[in-house]
Amino acid sequence: MTSSETTIWAWMRTLTKSRSAAKTVAMKHVPQRTCIACHLVKPKRQLVRLVCGPEGVVEVDTSGRKPGRGAYLCQSPGCWQKGLTRGKLEHALRAKISADNRARLLKFGTRIKAAGEATAQMEEAR
Ligand SMILES: [Zn+2]
Repeated sequence: MTSSETTIWAWMRTLTKSRSAAKTVAMKHVPQRTCIACHLVKPKRQLVRLVCGPEGVVEVDTSGRKPGRGAYLCQSPGCWQKGLTRGKLEHALRAKISADNRARLLKFGTRIKAAGEATAQMEEAR
């Protein structure tokens, strides 16, 4: 085998290898969910899950594993406002949400702002 042949074989091996790697990435299943407020489809872990518990109380499911009907919202206070105040969550969960429950969820929405959009919050504080 000449040295140029060796190079071609090495090149072909890399080509095959990279192609199969690309295939693996494409086939990897990333769960996608839709935000109930803005209807954008995002990877599940970029969204916050809300679940309607057995007592009809809606809670934030940070583990994403609580049983019950779930709905998803972006990690964005705007989506929480929209989703919680326009009956979208009730519709998605087919549940009645008490004023108390809603207030608690809205509060969580503002905390998302504190964590995720620190710059915007600092500007507001000035
Ligand atoms: Zn959204």
